[in-house]
Amino acid sequence: MIRTTYAVIHLDAIAHNVARVRLAAPKAKIMAVIKANAYGHGLQRVAHALEPYVEGFAVARVQEGVRLRKAGIRQRIVVLEGFTQSQELHDLHQYQLEPSIHAAHQLAILQSQTVPDLLAIWVKLDTGMNRLGFKSHEVSGVYEQLSRCVAVKKPLNFMTHFANADDKNDVKTLAQIRLFNELTAEYSGEKSMANSAGILAWEAAQTDWVRAGIMLYGISPFSDTTGLQLGLQPLMSLHSRLIAVRDVNAGETVGYSGLWSSPNATKIGVIAIGYGDGYPRYARSGTPVLINGGLVPLVGRVSMDMITVDLGLDSTAQAGDSVTLWGGGLPIETIAQWSDTIPYTLVCGVTPRVDILESTGHRVDH
Ligand SMILES: *Cc1c(COP(=O)(O)O)cnc(C)c1O
Repeated sequence: MIRTTYAVIHLDAIAHNVARVRLAAPKAKIMAVIKANAYGHGLQRVAHALEPYVEGFAVARVQEGVRLRKAGIRQRIVVLEGFTQSQELHDLHQYQLEPSIHAAHQLAILQSQTVPDLLAIWVKLDTGMNRLGFKSHEVSGVYEQLSRCVAVKKPLNFMTHFANADDKNDVKTLAQIRLFNELTAEYSGEKSMANSAGILAWEAAQTDWVRAGIMLYGISPFSDTTGLQLGLQPLMSLHSRLIAVRDVNAGETVGYSGLWSSPNATKIGVIAIGYGDGYPRYARSGTPVLINGGLVPLVGRVSMDMITVDLGLDSTAQAGDSVTLWGGGLPIETIAQWSDTIPYTLVCGVTPRVDILESTGHRVDH
């Protein structure tokens, strides 16, 4: 079958990227963060590929954890957003998921439970992110209350999240690390601070568990570095095909709004991918696209189903030729920069219209 627009998930990159996490954090256990459909790569596919290599998983929502258990995942699974209603405790218990406890309403729900050791939990401390978590002055009180809570397994575990760890010069991360250590020094449970940027840039953030997300997918958490430069291998590549090659004269505009006009006579390639597939609408003219081993610039507006590129007058490219939008030598970090976004949104944004193929090192049949 000829595929027009498809992503390839290079599953053999997973072991390599986990090894890179181990190299950076040799003493920590790895909690693989696979929320949001494993950052758009496919929850079950990525979970099974990671299973032999990591000690635990983290997801955002209870339903994501349930899906993992139903897929046969046996490691510990942390639910980063925890729960908001008592009815959710049933699934958390049945599927042995470990919610984060970050606010008073969750505490009240736990206190109303009478079943002993119902749940293992992670107490989330707000050390400066100001999103989820208990404030410093609340921590000892929350600890006392949770310690008396029969439904909660002891010892309690603790986590916090960094606001600016991707900025290697921002001392805020050091302040967050110091505060977390201070607040949890007397408590015996397991502790976790670092996301990918924390793992790579802030050694002091490596406690019992590190929470690796974006780097497992071969992508850099830093805006000035690519995953390849960090020794990572991209897990996803995105591909399509030329569906037309057209001549335009100097001064003619291409696409919606006449945003781009050709300075000279050239050949325009039309590629079957657009924002309806997850290619970013805000990619600027000049964004590189890989065709037949060479880079050509995107020109004009990204439409729903198509983009246009300037192939150059001498191009021999033809309809049917395959095109790489990111991955395979064209860093997704570059595409994110040209689109004023971060690579996280690009991988999460690939839509269900795009076929997903798996590669395990052998050639995939595209
Ligand atoms: C998403 C997330 C992570 C992983 O972050 P990356 O930057 O992808 O490594 C870790 N911890 C929490 C709380 C998160 O929400």
